[in-house]
Amino acid sequence: MKPETIALHGGYGGDPTTKAVAVPIYQTVAYSFDSAAHGAALFDLEVEGYRYTRIGNPTVDVLERRIAELEGGIDALAVASGQTAVYYTMLNLAQAGQNIVSVPQLYGTTHTLFAHILPQLGVRVRLARSDSPAELESLIDADTRALFCETVGNPAGNICDLEALAAVARRAHIPLVVDNTVATPILCRPIDYGADIVVHSLTKFLGGHGTSLGGAIVDSGRFPWAKHAARYPRLTQPDESYHGLVYTEHYGAKAFLGRGRSVFQRTMGAVLSPFNAFLLLQGIETVALRVERHVANARRVAEFLRADRRISSVSYAGFPDNPHHALCQKYLGGRACSLMTFEIRGGYDAGTRFYDALELFKRLVNLGDAKSLACHPASTTHRQMSAEEQRQAGLGPATMRLSVGIEHIDDILADLDQALAAATRA
Ligand code: PLP
Repeated sequence: MKPETIALHGGYGGDPTTKAVAVPIYQTVAYSFDSAAHGAALFDLEVEGYRYTRIGNPTVDVLERRIAELEGGIDALAVASGQTAVYYTMLNLAQAGQNIVSVPQLYGTTHTLFAHILPQLGVRVRLARSDSPAELESLIDADTRALFCETVGNPAGNICDLEALAAVARRAHIPLVVDNTVATPILCRPIDYGADIVVHSLTKFLGGHGTSLGGAIVDSGRFPWAKHAARYPRLTQPDESYHGLVYTEHYGAKAFLGRGRSVFQRTMGAVLSPFNAFLLLQGIETVALRVERHVANARRVAEFLRADRRISSVSYAGFPDNPHHALCQKYLGGRACSLMTFEIRGGYDAGTRFYDALELFKRLVNLGDAKSLACHPASTTHRQMSAEEQRQAGLGPATMRLSVGIEHIDDILADLDQALAAATRA
């Protein structure tokens, strides 16, 4: 099925008992066993079924299947937030003494996780100075366990050369992990270009209405864990924390998320609630339509800003002179995202006057809501970074980030125009 159809039907063929057409919310913590033997068989993973919502829930399952289908993966694990998805993925791949290689254009909290939190657990993250595949390759060594990038960097708007990065990862026998939050599977499916694992903040465009936090980890099922058993022993050797289970033997191609669920979800417990899964499923139903409108509105906004002499620069991959234009054509089908950054003449002070004058755009730290949103990354999402780290992440002290919504374009442009007037009046 095409993404537009999967978004409505993926992972759910109707409720077998009630014939409910909408996905039911299974708001339950636990599930009863038929007998002691049935409980034991469930815990031994000998039979399929539910035990406890921290480990699995029927509403959340539908969301997992739908995301997996949208991304072209074989399995997905839904978690409490996008940040949990990144964190669990890294913990599932690397342990103390090992490292991860990453692009520097990252969402601010992912940067904090990589630069400060994973190193506290003994996992070093080697941040390249750019998203150049050659530079990233030069940072990989025998202890590297993953290569990480965002399809479209937040907020830099850079587009990673996924095929080239997948080739680098393949040569190093490590998985390529791609955060596809900003692009969404509507604009790009990283697995089609060789990514092994895709992570998402469902909080953004997929949910689409700014109501619910959620995250997902999608496995392509293609990485040969057993072939590289010496590198990934936790997937290929008996797990004493789960009565000696060998994930690659029990789950086969789904070993990565089998361990993700049995170890990280079960013992750390950052679970997606069934109610949030329901709200996210509602949002996903219209993601293709919304993204189409987001993309069209963003182009009009980018053109408006570029033509305005109050603006000194606009970073938008849809312009032919943008350094990422060719990659935008290749990976996003020329549909540049509705996340963009720009600088106002007059620097930081003019930027804050513009920000304070916005009326329709919401001042906040979020993206991908149906509503138009504005963010000043240097003082909020990327505040923990040094000035140099911010520069490498693609932003300056006065950079404004817009997530262009799906309102009528005339109203969006009118708000930007009046805020620019207020900012530059002085
Ligand atoms: N990845 C990207 C690219 C993001 O932009 C965000 C949040 O803005 C996250 C991950 C984290 O997502 P969440 O807020 O759902 O934890």
